[in-house]
Amino acid sequence: MRHEEQEAGGVSLDKNTLTRYEAIRERVAKAAQIAGRDPASIKLIAVTKTFEAEAIQPVLMAGHTRYGENRVQEALRKWQPLRKRHEGVELHLIGPLQSNKAAEAVALFDVIHSIDRTKIAAALAGEIEKQGKTPKLLVQVNTGREPQKAGIAPEEAEEFVALCRNQHNLDVNGLMCIPPFHEDPVPHFNKLAELREQCGLDELSMGMSGDFEQAIFYGATIVRIGSAIFGAR
Ligand SMILES: *Cc1c(COP(=O)(O)O)cnc(C)c1O
Repeated sequence: MRHEEQEAGGVSLDKNTLTRYEAIRERVAKAAQIAGRDPASIKLIAVTKTFEAEAIQPVLMAGHTRYGENRVQEALRKWQPLRKRHEGVELHLIGPLQSNKAAEAVALFDVIHSIDRTKIAAALAGEIEKQGKTPKLLVQVNTGREPQKAGIAPEEAEEFVALCRNQHNLDVNGLMCIPPFHEDPVPHFNKLAELREQCGLDELSMGMSGDFEQAIFYGATIVRIGSAIFGAR
């Protein structure tokens, strides 16, 4: 009896994750439609930090391919085995990067969202050449100028992108931001969109569980959604 209840609990948990995932996909498509944009132009990153394989399984089984992690070690441990069982997984590093982890990051991730200083740009450039890999690269901008947060200051973004391209030969594809938790995100989304124009880039990585619809309205091409799919952390 007890065993059956536990099993039923497990199954209903999976169903909840799948239901939430499908609801998020619908909301992304709806937000795109409202903004007059093609839903296919918006990439949904399922953010799996702190969640283990079992919790991620329903989304993998649904055929979702794009996942985000914020720590290199956690991502290695979790995704090396998962990738052997699931083809076509595209992994995004969305957390801050230390230069001593650049080799592992380049080996594991397809997209790195968090380039924000010269030392990281140089370390990545070295590893990209050495490993012969071509991850997509985004520069993180600290639009809220929060001292505890990673990211280049908004007024330095254009020069930094140019330095990444010209001095380090990095193929920068876009910009990423995380607006301050307690502020209206819209001015931050607007600022990032404006900087993208200035820098002549394609990708705008912005919008999380609480604000992705607004981010899409203001031009996000990549949204990073965790708790609205997998539950509270
Ligand atoms: C955790 C995280 C997310 C996802 O946040 P949710 O509010 O759970 O959707 C998105 N981006 C970054 C950089 C994160 O660290």
